[in-house]
Amino acid sequence: MYADIIVDIMTDQLDKPFQYKVPSEMESDIGVGVLVTAPFGAGNRLITGYVIELHEEPRYDPNKTKCLTDIVHSKVKIVERMIKLAAWLKNNYGSTMNQALRTVIPVKDKIKAKEKKSVRLVADEETVEDYLTQLGAKKNAVARVRLLEALKEEPIIEYEIIKTKLNIGDSAVKTLEKAGLVEIVAESLYRNPVDEQVGEEKRVMLNEQQRKAVDTFVKDYSEGIRKTYLLHGITGSGKTVCYMDMIEHVINEGRQVIVLIPEIALTFQTVQRFYRRFGDRVSIMNSRMSKGERYDQFLRAMRGEISIMIGPRSALFTPFADIGLIVIDEEHENAYKSETAPRYHARETAVYIAKECNASVVLGSATPSMEAYYRAMEGEYQLFELNDRATGGKLATVHTVDLRQELKDGNRSMFSRKLQELIEDRLAKNEQIMLFLNKRGYAGFVSCRSCGHVMKCPHCDISLTEHRNGKLICHYCGYEQAKVTECPECGSKYISGFKAGTQQVEEAIARRYPGARVLRMDMDTTSTKDGHEKILAAFANHEADILVGTQMIVKGHDFPEVTLVGVLAADMSLHVGDYRAAEKTFQLLVQAAGRAGRGSRAGEVVIQTFSPDNYSVEAAGRQDYKGFYEEEIAYRSLMGYPPVRNMLKVSFTSKNVEKLEKACEEVKIKMQTCMKKGIICVGPVPAGIYKINDEYTQVMHIKAADYEELKVCKDFLENDVRADGVFDDIYLNYDFN
Ligand code: ADP
Ligand code: ZN
Ligand code: ZN
Repeated sequence: MYADIIVDIMTDQLDKPFQYKVPSEMESDIGVGVLVTAPFGAGNRLITGYVIELHEEPRYDPNKTKCLTDIVHSKVKIVERMIKLAAWLKNNYGSTMNQALRTVIPVKDKIKAKEKKSVRLVADEETVEDYLTQLGAKKNAVARVRLLEALKEEPIIEYEIIKTKLNIGDSAVKTLEKAGLVEIVAESLYRNPVDEQVGEEKRVMLNEQQRKAVDTFVKDYSEGIRKTYLLHGITGSGKTVCYMDMIEHVINEGRQVIVLIPEIALTFQTVQRFYRRFGDRVSIMNSRMSKGERYDQFLRAMRGEISIMIGPRSALFTPFADIGLIVIDEEHENAYKSETAPRYHARETAVYIAKECNASVVLGSATPSMEAYYRAMEGEYQLFELNDRATGGKLATVHTVDLRQELKDGNRSMFSRKLQELIEDRLAKNEQIMLFLNKRGYAGFVSCRSCGHVMKCPHCDISLTEHRNGKLICHYCGYEQAKVTECPECGSKYISGFKAGTQQVEEAIARRYPGARVLRMDMDTTSTKDGHEKILAAFANHEADILVGTQMIVKGHDFPEVTLVGVLAADMSLHVGDYRAAEKTFQLLVQAAGRAGRGSRAGEVVIQTFSPDNYSVEAAGRQDYKGFYEEEIAYRSLMGYPPVRNMLKVSFTSKNVEKLEKACEEVKIKMQTCMKKGIICVGPVPAGIYKINDEYTQVMHIKAADYEELKVCKDFLENDVRADGVFDDIYLNYDFN
């Protein structure tokens, strides 16, 4: 028997399986996913690797094939499943095997992360009081008393704080530890974020539509029917309540559940609801955790200590032994698609995992992705609609304002007359306002009014952005230079920024409404660690009247005091040169509108736009998902875009422009030989921005009816074309649909 093993998933230089002979005494224990040791390289240094395939026949001369040395971990079924999953990711989305393995197999940091320690009170109240009395007025007991008093207030305190803020030395802590009153714990150990005081999640009587969704799921599940379900319901329509009933049914059968929630919506409140319902069977993952902490979570899952994992995209790879259900909330979010190879989509990957594990998938959204709704319409997914807010309350009234008309009527301000009127009204009533601009910072380019020259980044061929500090910055590579006072082309003094960012909005408010308190949330104000939460918390506390921000402010946060939402320029996301522009615009506008009137008072929304007739703007104004879907799917169908057809974008990147151009010419010719009827291949052509960070990129788009045909094209590039040496020094990236 011969085993193909991947020797080191951390280096792409070794991205190919190496074949070894399996000694006969190891044959009964070997299998895919087994971790083995083997001699490697000229020096025969001992390395570890995963078995990814087994063969009866050797690929090379059996006399030159080395033998495996030992088995580190015997066959673990979960690891076998993960390796199979990696192979699927590689195959379906294009990547190296190592990239795929690194995506699905949690690796512990090589350098052990410095562990944050904390001190936890473990004795009960009585014991602590007794001890304190015993200590009495003993002279050397001050530190111990102070620590116990502090722990009575807060049962877990970071060691660092104890040392610095409380000024308590190691010996006091040690003494208390010996006495059995406290415990020194590594953060990862006590990281069971369940607060025992939270109590039970109140059970609600499901309404008729919720009942139907949950009953259907439970009935199907009990009969062994596994499916993908789509819950289409506005925020607050009670989707989460449905998920929880479904989850309960599945874990009661002893199986496990993965719940994906976009990071931005992974708020304390959301997570707390799951803890209240399911207690310490729940665990959570987020991107702020270190690799080591995530690894610990995965171990807990593997050992069966938890049944529910909540987290962003990567939580999909939780190594549970027996997954019964995968829930994806806010299924339409961009964050569910990986930006690095393999560029997998969590939805499709979940459906694949579910099939492998005999599980079901439940998707939920107020504005389902075109993909999900299309599949529901095609009968591939089962659709449930939740039409009303579960706690009553009405949707906001939407006013759409034509900015062209405002200009014609002489209003050059960035606030239309309608918006001005409503802002004044809300400020007078002490109600809160959100103003949304789909752009970051001073997203203005600098141009010369005399000759038209635009200031560009010397490395990226992209306009520089003027920042408040006077610097001109490239948002792609970070290049910066000082602001110019005269045009480098013609010497004119009339060179300045094109101003339309959240900062300008903030400044305009300050001029027009001097008394109003404003908070701004965008990339610049949230770059610090907790910047995000601090701004949101301040706004929730009504420390400001107006929150100005980019798309970050429209997602997931509930501010009951907000009764007015203004979208300052709905068009901004409409012309970004992407076939999803209309879909993204519609989703953003509906989400923005959904921010108004979450409390007891009704809300109003003003959508300002230069294209009021565009169907995505119009449908958002009516909050009409189906109307939008019908128009959009007709367009996708006509143009041959996903989800009706399939599309693959291949990027070719290199620092060496000559080599790149030569390779792309060859690709053009070679692709002809693999083209079938009905497949359309455009390019490669230089990317919109040809040069970024001194690297050049060309892109090729392939459209086909069938996804499998695109995979054939990818494999053709990877196997046939690559074998001809066309891609030396060229990096390929695949982006499906
Ligand atoms: P979604 O996930 O769709 O945003 P949630 O499940 O969070 O909606 O529900 C929104 C609010 O409505 C929650 O406070 C929830 O407890 C409440 N709720 C949901 N369903 C019902 C119901 N059938 N009866 C009463 N309250 C409900
Ligand atoms: Zn000029
Ligand atoms: Zn640059």
